[in-house]
Amino acid sequence: MVEEHFDTQRLHAGYDWSKHQYASSVPIYATAAFGLENFDNGLKVVSGQKKEFSYSRVSNPTTEVFENRIAALEGGVGAVALGSGMAAITYTIFNVAEGGGHVLAPSNIYGGSLDEFRTLFPKFGITVDFYDDVNDLTSIQNQITADTKAIYAESVANPSTEITDVAGLADIAHTAGIPLIIDNTFPTPYLFKPFEFGADISIYSSTKGINGHGNVIGGLVVDNGKFDWSSDKFPQLNESEFILTDDAHPNGQSFVEKFGSKAFISRIRMKYLRLMGAVLSPVEAYMSLIGLETISERVTKEVASATKIAKYLQENSHVKRVYYSGLDTENSLVKKYYPHGIGAILAFEVAGGIAQIRDIINGVQIFSYLPNVGDAKSLIVNPTKTTHREIPEEIRAKHALNDNVIRLSIGLEDVDDLIADLDQAISGAFND
Ligand SMILES: *Cc1c(COP(=O)(O)O)cnc(C)c1O
Repeated sequence: MVEEHFDTQRLHAGYDWSKHQYASSVPIYATAAFGLENFDNGLKVVSGQKKEFSYSRVSNPTTEVFENRIAALEGGVGAVALGSGMAAITYTIFNVAEGGGHVLAPSNIYGGSLDEFRTLFPKFGITVDFYDDVNDLTSIQNQITADTKAIYAESVANPSTEITDVAGLADIAHTAGIPLIIDNTFPTPYLFKPFEFGADISIYSSTKGINGHGNVIGGLVVDNGKFDWSSDKFPQLNESEFILTDDAHPNGQSFVEKFGSKAFISRIRMKYLRLMGAVLSPVEAYMSLIGLETISERVTKEVASATKIAKYLQENSHVKRVYYSGLDTENSLVKKYYPHGIGAILAFEVAGGIAQIRDIINGVQIFSYLPNVGDAKSLIVNPTKTTHREIPEEIRAKHALNDNVIRLSIGLEDVDDLIADLDQAISGAFND
């Protein structure tokens, strides 16, 4: 067998064309359900003793290719695709801490995640304890209690682009017998693979760089398969499940017993996707697969353009500060984790006020003003009024996120056109 590297896997992994009429492009199985063939076969399929498709809320052949391709790219044992990144986050936190428990997370995470962690999870008995400095490992360790079920973090922060020491967090988590969950949406698996540095679960909003064209909302949970879930911290994975009843286990069995290293990801599918239902449609899985085919070329160009734009902004006298950790060649975390760049997203603080921010946003001609990242088209946003609106003032202040910060997501346009666009918009805002 030829060893397949990332650029080969993103085109081929998880797809055996001999099982699909030798179709070159992964077929879209636009079907809600699949025939069970006959009575005896049906019994085997519904009890999980035979692996066949039965109902597309739980699994679908097109979606499964997307899942298996991502699992291969990440080096994980399995993945579940979901209807959004938020569904991936919700199901993961529920699956690890349901029934009451604590999760440790930084206070500078994605706005939707922060709002959910602060205001919604507590209503389900899950408390999130926040830490402000993602790399103050000692203080994070001191916040772990007997009730802590997981450490959660984002690999690259939004919009500061601060880098998380994933290996450091993994050590702390594993010493405490809990998993490390990483939202790796910003770098994508092309720039960073959390499992290589000890993370146990990675999460994506595939809406962003994985799909890369701003045309699908989707999410993924990926399982490294190395974490030992058999501890009594996680009764939900060790209790006997009626749905796992089969001929050999008439009284059911637990997810750990039945699925071993795939216990966590199997439970996401069979309890959360199956019962809460945030399914990704096969058409969207297909679109995501097409987007994924060009991830390496897209992200490589976006990183080069983002770097050039960050350097241009550093030289602009109306820019007070540029947030793009990829420029910081002395940063040991950047060197260790991101040899091919930190990603396509950067931010800058304007040396002006709300009037200038408005004029820049209204003045750009190529950048699209909208709340998204990772599109092939370049995007601009004022976070405190849009994407980060739900983050309370005092938390924003801790992360240098004020009303004068503008975030950019760099796409595939001619980089000099993008710089000219920013230049004319900034000059216009300051009447240069
Ligand atoms: C967009 C985003 C999410 C949420 O994903 P959706 O697909 O919009 O639900 C979660 N985390 C990060 C880092 C994101 O950028």
